[in-house]
Amino acid sequence: SVLPGSIFEVNTSPMPNGGAVAVLHDITRIEQVERTQQDFVANVSHELRTPLTSISGYVETLLDHEQNLSTTARSFLTTILKNANRMHRLTEDLLALARVESSEAPLTPQPLRSDMLVRDAVQGVSGLVQENEATLEIGSLTEDDVFADHDAVLQVLSNLIENAIKYGQPRSGGRSHVIVSARTVQEPVAAVEFSVRDFGQGIASEHLTRIFERFYRVDKARSRESGGTGLGLAIARHMIQTQGGTIWAESNLNEGSTFLFTLPIALFPAVEDEEL
Ligand code: ADP
Repeated sequence: SVLPGSIFEVNTSPMPNGGAVAVLHDITRIEQVERTQQDFVANVSHELRTPLTSISGYVETLLDHEQNLSTTARSFLTTILKNANRMHRLTEDLLALARVESSEAPLTPQPLRSDMLVRDAVQGVSGLVQENEATLEIGSLTEDDVFADHDAVLQVLSNLIENAIKYGQPRSGGRSHVIVSARTVQEPVAAVEFSVRDFGQGIASEHLTRIFERFYRVDKARSRESGGTGLGLAIARHMIQTQGGTIWAESNLNEGSTFLFTLPIALFPAVEDEEL
């Protein structure tokens, strides 16, 4: 018997006589458990926000206004503040992940110029580039339109560029150099392929697919030090996949890494402002 609202996964196998066998797996229960877990994570993150804001608020006030704090008190309070901020980033990222996973934040795809998206993202990270004394280069760009949600694409591009700056320092020392490009591809379907390339230490092949999993970090200490939560790439993957794209990484140890993602080409071009 099939209950209304049941969710099935279909596996088909071809038969020698030219026919095919389709096997239906009822995954309703798995989906329900997953949804309950996502709701739980979202609720916990939400509940943690208020007490965390209170902790950092009080600590900041003490650090700013108490002149006669002992050196020890000042150093401990600074550590408390650093960790409260870290927890705050974690809860924000967990909430963002829960939102994209539950499709609670509906994406509004529209035709968007690929080159403009790259330029916007590059502009948005200019502060971080300066802070890290990194260099950011715009490579070749296509003017073709993708059909995607503006904010979601910007978030993914910014996240990849931030990672390239954070993890892209060459082993020999020196600063990160990052190249962001976008080109049109026809295979397997017409799409724009965005890429963010760095010349850092690279990622060993056994980590390459796993870094898109939640909380997976090649070097936990390094990620923590740079303010990472280990959720950025999981969020990026979800955002790209829900928009009909693919995201992956290529890397050679000691030579650098390239993060790439595709987005479908818009069938109808963007309407120019003056035409509106
Ligand atoms: P984090 O918050 O730790 O940066 P991400 O999900 O963005 O989390 O990335 C997961 C892990 O992938 C990072 O901790 C790092 O080990 C690795 N990584 C991501 N981008 C790069 C890169 N450009 N070069 C080398 N390693 C990277």
